Amino acid sequence: MMQHVDMIIKNGTVLTMDSKNSVFENGFLCVQGDTISHIGDGSIETFKPKKTIDAKEGLILPGLVNAHTHAAMSLFRGLADDLPLMEWLNSYIFPVESQMDAEFVYTGSLLAIAEMIMSGTTTFCDMYLFEDEVAKAAKRSGMRCLVGEVIYDFPSSNYGPVEKAIEYSEGLIRKWRNDPIVSIAVEPHSLYTCSPKLLTMANELALKYKVPLIIHIAETISEVNEIKEKYGKTPIEHLDSLKILGPHLIADHCVCIEPSDITTMAKHGVKIVHNPESNMKLASGVAPVPEMLASGLTVGLGTDGCASNNNLDLFMEMDMAAKIHKVNTMDPTVMDAITVLKMATIGGATVLGLEDFTGSLEVGKKADIIVVDTYQPHLVPMYNPFSHLVYAANGNDVRDTIINGRLVMEDRDLLTLDLDEVIAHAKEKAVKVRSWISNGAHPKNENGQTQ
Ligand SMILES: [Zn+2]
Repeated sequence: MMQHVDMIIKNGTVLTMDSKNSVFENGFLCVQGDTISHIGDGSIETFKPKKTIDAKEGLILPGLVNAHTHAAMSLFRGLADDLPLMEWLNSYIFPVESQMDAEFVYTGSLLAIAEMIMSGTTTFCDMYLFEDEVAKAAKRSGMRCLVGEVIYDFPSSNYGPVEKAIEYSEGLIRKWRNDPIVSIAVEPHSLYTCSPKLLTMANELALKYKVPLIIHIAETISEVNEIKEKYGKTPIEHLDSLKILGPHLIADHCVCIEPSDITTMAKHGVKIVHNPESNMKLASGVAPVPEMLASGLTVGLGTDGCASNNNLDLFMEMDMAAKIHKVNTMDPTVMDAITVLKMATIGGATVLGLEDFTGSLEVGKKADIIVVDTYQPHLVPMYNPFSHLVYAANGNDVRDTIINGRLVMEDRDLLTLDLDEVIAHAKEKAVKVRSWISNGAHPKNENGQTQ
């Protein structure tokens, strides 16, 4: 009997990333509406698909999850590199960020989303100003996301005074609450830019609507020292004393944390996002990810903003995540390829609270799928697909991207965005950024903003 399906992806090795790490060589996968309806190997003659994608003996795997970005910072890529963190922030990033408006963030987000779709990312988690624009850009592109307005103790160029921070975040939650691909989080920037009162209010809002609370935590040693001086506690102890630790908390970075902090976070089921390239580029240090994983913590992978990376390619991030811990511990067995690929797929999805929808290929889950073209000199021969994805492939090897059942890139062609238009608009904004810098836009910003 014929079975009608919307899409079939055939003739590839399916890496499901499910709990048994099932692999189907010569496998196929069917999509019905926004959902995966069949996965397997063998004959596909009984299926009558509206659309067929031939993986041509490539790899079929879940779309990658970029669990921490500042998407619109794509417009600051390469603006300033190789500088100490505070000089980089105060002389370049904060001055240009203070000039941004909603349209700037929308343009930068579309550029970032184009880059992410074209390098195999199907879900991203964002923190920035004008986040409603990021949500709109994701919606237009057909990209799954968890986004939230960055809030802190000083005025925002978007929502205004700090008194409006919670109200604005609540408005975002209400506006997007039933959207199939856009979800909203509450995102206080950090412990050094948010008072205990603001953190507590943000946490209450997150709990009220059952959405994640996302904070940069312990990214640098100077931040940890500042918190210790102010509160006499480590950042994790500080959050614990405010009763903010819990499975809804997504902690970005956690580079400078103590063994006792790991135990505390594990006890409360806190989720972690590891950003190795940004931590290397800004010389922040190495997060103790092997210890976190050993303690049972769920860890996802993020690129962080483009200005501190300088790309959104999660394949490169996986490569770095696998290698940085080896050299840091002088132990090549400490972080294997499958562990890293898990962080970039089901790990990241679990961190974002989206594990019922995405992060692995399973019947009933949403169809967030990528096809990797392995007919490339740098991917031949292939003894172990997990090894290739982490150590040899790059984002350009992704040929097709499907998000929520919708084909958004086919044969390297972006279908939901006009790439020429996205690039032209980004270049226009870069002219503005140059003028902001050359007009002596080097004022010290005492407050500090995102990053
Ligand atoms: Zn960040």
